Amino acid sequence: MNPAQCPCHSAKTYAKCCQAFHSGKAKARTVTQLMRSRYSAYALGGHGDYLYRTWHPDSRGMLQAQDLDLSTLRWIHLEVLRAQQSGEAGSVEFIARFVQEDGSEGVHHERSTFVREKGHWLYEQGQEFEDS
Ligand SMILES: [Zn+2]
Repeated sequence: MNPAQCPCHSAKTYAKCCQAFHSGKAKARTVTQLMRSRYSAYALGGHGDYLYRTWHPDSRGMLQAQDLDLSTLRWIHLEVLRAQQSGEAGSVEFIARFVQEDGSEGVHHERSTFVREKGHWLYEQGQEFEDS
């Protein structure tokens, strides 16, 4: 992968895509933008802060930002299947592919729900599909 390319596979460069969200210069206007930027935060590692502050306090539980810094899986692909947004709530269904430490590939198929509070989209929870 071209290192300048955004890890969320938008075909844009990281500088023109998720970087502004991670740095706090811009905020996600849609649930899809937030979901993609959270995916790329996981893919890059070291963005625990961002994952923490875009996670709803009611569902992140005891998680700490530093727990989210680690990139334990190598995320290699993201496909957004559908997204819906209505008022202050929305959801995104996606398939993410990863490579584990032993080299085997895995698939994560999830429908995430989001809520917007004070103008900021927050990840609420994810429902994982078992078919993948
Ligand atoms: Zn991106």
